[in-house]
Amino acid sequence: MRYIPVIGLEIHAELSTDSKVFCNCSSEFGGEQNTRCCPRCSGLPGTLPVLNKKAMEYAVKAGLALGCEINMHNSFDRKNYFYPDLPKAYQITQYLRPICVSGKVDIGGKIIRINRIHLEEDAGKLIHHDSDGLSLIDLNRCGIPLIEIVTEPDISSAEEAKAFVEAVSLNLKYAGVCDCRMEEGSLRVDVNISLMPEGATELGTRAEIKNLNSLKSIARAIEYEIYRQSELLDNGMNIIQETRRFDDNSGTTSSLRSKQEVHDYRYFPEPDIPAVIFTQDDIENIRSNLPKMPQERFEEYTVVFGLPEDDARLLISDKALSDFYNGAVSVYPNYKGIANLILVELLHLLNKSGLSMDSLLIPPQDIAKLVRLTDEGKVSRNAAKDILRIMFEKGGSPDAIARENGLLMETDTGAVITVIKEVLAHNQKAVDEYRSGKEKVFGFLMGQVSKKMGKGSNPKLIREELEKALKN
Ligand code: ADP
Ligand code: MG
Ligand code: ZN
Repeated sequence: MRYIPVIGLEIHAELSTDSKVFCNCSSEFGGEQNTRCCPRCSGLPGTLPVLNKKAMEYAVKAGLALGCEINMHNSFDRKNYFYPDLPKAYQITQYLRPICVSGKVDIGGKIIRINRIHLEEDAGKLIHHDSDGLSLIDLNRCGIPLIEIVTEPDISSAEEAKAFVEAVSLNLKYAGVCDCRMEEGSLRVDVNISLMPEGATELGTRAEIKNLNSLKSIARAIEYEIYRQSELLDNGMNIIQETRRFDDNSGTTSSLRSKQEVHDYRYFPEPDIPAVIFTQDDIENIRSNLPKMPQERFEEYTVVFGLPEDDARLLISDKALSDFYNGAVSVYPNYKGIANLILVELLHLLNKSGLSMDSLLIPPQDIAKLVRLTDEGKVSRNAAKDILRIMFEKGGSPDAIARENGLLMETDTGAVITVIKEVLAHNQKAVDEYRSGKEKVFGFLMGQVSKKMGKGSNPKLIREELEKALKN
């Protein structure tokens, strides 16, 4: 039997606010265990949560970046469950009125709908010492603001799931609300997946694979589940609705627990946090602080600037890179010339040195200046590469570097004529050959003049003057 995979994702993204969502503890990643927690995020009785306004703002930004509507009236609920990484024995989350609803994300031709985004608190981390059977707890992560992005079951393959997670990460990074470092756990993905026999109209029973922390494991978990579930269905067995875990070593999933029902969580409105009411002005203020999103930049680069799609894609893949490019073309609009210099030469220098855009010494205006010098015929393309390397290593403006290193092309015709005269005088034989019709020696004479003129040699000017000189 052929089956169609039906996949919905739940993406947890930690918001990069300075402090936690209901207390003032630092929400920075890492730190010595249990040094970034207080009575509030450790859930001691008698403490009360205070909502972090920044976290609300970031959640709205995330929603706007993912095409959502904002719930102008949203509120918090308690989700009750006991697990040792959550000392209060309940999680403050949003159940009835999530902060964002109905989003959509384009993954290259296909739209994946977002059902909702809600704001909640992260739990602590259990550290299992298998050797002595101990489990230890670190509460530093407890109370870090977390958004959960829940999609509709619109995804049909591992490839689409990866593309969706990449698109969401890119948008969240542009919005500046999450660093999306899957290896540090700031972005974690749960995959819900079921199979539908071809031609069926009802969704099948799904399994949920929890806490995937790389694009690769998302894809592998999906591939494995497609295999496992289709084997079961082919053999006339039922799929059990359950939560499973993925094992990176074996590439397989195994049952963790049967799926909890909503009533198991005994949700009720959180009594310690008042409802949040936004005005249209609040939302517009937040929206006005968002930068241009990657999709919009892609359109501008390809349609308005005429860049090839691959170049545009590479530029938007990193906001710092795209900002840098924008900075350069805003002073000197040679869109292609600047894109080439950045994507070929500058990225090469960055890759070779292992540095990132943040540590770049070059201001974008200087890239513009350098391309302009080339366009105006003041430095050759090869010299431009040398100048860029010096700018990259030591900083400094391109004109000064060109001057100091003798890389400005000779534009003084008199100087060129003097050198040509010298060369012709020393190469009478070649001159005679040329004049008797052996035009091949022209290249040799060009070479001699260029060599004498050194780095600043100006091929166009030399060619013109040499032709004239040989005619006389
Ligand atoms: P729960 O409340 O049990 O977590 P939700 O309705 O919130 O369930 O759905 C969780 C995720 O599972 C969503 O991303 C949704 O798209 C996805 N989902 C729901 N039903 C199915 C299904 N039959 N097959 C695959 N994914 C599904
Ligand atoms: Mg859910
Ligand atoms: Zn705290």
